[in-house]
Amino acid sequence: MLIKNVRILGGEPVDIAVVNGLIAEIRPAGSAGTRHDGDDTAEAGLPEVVEGRGAIALPGLVDLHTHLREPGREDAETVQTGTQSAARGGYTAVHAMANTMPVADTAGVVEQVWRLGQEFGHCDVQPVGAVTVGLEGKQLAELGAMADSAARVRVFSDDGRCVDDAVLMRRALEYVKAFDGVVAQHAQEPKLTKDAQMNEGVISGRLGLSGWPAVAEEAIIARDCLLAAHVGSRLHVCHVSTAGSVEIIRWAKSKGWNVTAEVTPHHLLLTDELVEESPNGSYNPIYKVNPPLRTRADVEALRSALADGTIDVVATDHAPHPVEDKETEWAAAAMGMVGLETALSVVQEAMVDTGLLDWAGVAERMSAAPARIGRLPGHGRPLEVGAPANIVLYDPTARAEVDPSSFASKSRNTPYEGMTLPGRVLATFLRGRPTVLEGKLA
Ligand SMILES: [Zn+2]
Repeated sequence: MLIKNVRILGGEPVDIAVVNGLIAEIRPAGSAGTRHDGDDTAEAGLPEVVEGRGAIALPGLVDLHTHLREPGREDAETVQTGTQSAARGGYTAVHAMANTMPVADTAGVVEQVWRLGQEFGHCDVQPVGAVTVGLEGKQLAELGAMADSAARVRVFSDDGRCVDDAVLMRRALEYVKAFDGVVAQHAQEPKLTKDAQMNEGVISGRLGLSGWPAVAEEAIIARDCLLAAHVGSRLHVCHVSTAGSVEIIRWAKSKGWNVTAEVTPHHLLLTDELVEESPNGSYNPIYKVNPPLRTRADVEALRSALADGTIDVVATDHAPHPVEDKETEWAAAAMGMVGLETALSVVQEAMVDTGLLDWAGVAERMSAAPARIGRLPGHGRPLEVGAPANIVLYDPTARAEVDPSSFASKSRNTPYEGMTLPGRVLATFLRGRPTVLEGKLA
């Protein structure tokens, strides 16, 4: 296959030849080169030539934090629809969070998710294992068995819940060292956030919704950085949402500790003001999310931290919910937003169009770094000869209104409905096989 006229990381136009799932040749656009017709791509029924029309080529995106909901909540999402959504967003690999029903806390369940990914996945599915049995925070799950399973789990998380017991967290951090694993913490001190509904601040006070203080996140992050340093293990901090958290992570990194962190697209763009006043009215649960949307000052701090590398990764925290769980009164509504199909556009809006990141920076934070943290050697590689042809073609000049009815996800709970966002994923290739062409599932 030949991918014609694309600009790798926004550079000079090139043609990329793909043979047997690998990048075989990269040459200036339109120049003559080795011919690859007659190879087995034609036999597989794939188009021989894809016209890139000057699109930006990035390495296939990797999500460290996706909720695919299968097994258990197939009404919200399945491995098939979630990975279709991922492919449409430019992703070639996603980490599937463990808070399914049953919880992915045994080798059996992680292998089940991994096999579903092999069979139905439009991108690679790497299961995340739970840290504690049933996400209950009482007893360590069988981390070693999950690591040794066919799913080869390396990321462990009770996401949705915090591992708040310091002794259990310490044991988990010690345990995963044996197989080069990482504990990804959902940092939320439970007592400080009991019944919490939104960011604690001026607006929560005005709206009479119980507040979710920044310190509940920051206290756990500080503790866990100290624990990770104490036992010499790897810590990853999920969905950082406050300026104070950024300061703590910056300090931990300055010590040389092995701490990485992610931020979601929505925390880079949206604020708690939307709960009070938005195009969708006030108290609209579409803006209810865990951790909550914070203040403008927090958004600015998160953007700077992502730009300077204090925060390593953009992760979607794609959290599909069916209409009946979202379109209800604020207090009863589920927390979370879908995000895979809008992530790259939101990052362009918040980081690229503001001059904070270039496309190389985006590739590092949405592909290379998450693949490194998740230990996925087949992903996140630079687009160069010999690398797997995991590629997304992206047109940053497009602009369109977000239309949830066009999503491949089974769920529609996006906070961006009706907003105009830049950019469009034109094509996604997984090991040379197109999963998306002309913006549509291939
Ligand atoms: Zn979480």
